[in-house]
Amino acid sequence: MNRSAGRIVLVALFLVGFFSAACTTSVERCAKCGMDVESAPRWIAGLTLEDGTDQRFCSPRCLFAWRIQTGAEGSPWVTEYYSQQRMPAAELHFVVGSDVIGPMGSALVPVAGLKAAEQFRHDHDGERVVELSEITLELLQSLKKQS
Ligand SMILES: [Zn+2]
Repeated sequence: MNRSAGRIVLVALFLVGFFSAACTTSVERCAKCGMDVESAPRWIAGLTLEDGTDQRFCSPRCLFAWRIQTGAEGSPWVTEYYSQQRMPAAELHFVVGSDVIGPMGSALVPVAGLKAAEQFRHDHDGERVVELSEITLELLQSLKKQS
């Protein structure tokens, strides 16, 4: 093998390595349902684990179901409906049974402020407003039936 042929082989090996690396950095999937987390950015929710890393989900529904089922420790956060800002789930209110549909069907809509949440419930034909502590597996399963 002459020198330039050797160089071509090296370049080819480099390209193979580069592209296989690019392929393995695939989309981030919801830990609960496997959906691409970024496919619906306005519904992204997550759990900041004790080591500081984020476990992300497609929606508050997946986050809460996963958290209850696995008993994982950490701080849950969601994307607030109006501001589209990431906020701690404990500070928000959640509207149940409205006409708003998220990635998993009937959505659990996170709204900042009880007044705004009640207004949202009124405007979107919601059933009720709950807090983080009231979100149980039973509640999540009742949502599933509506979707
Ligand atoms: Zn999901």
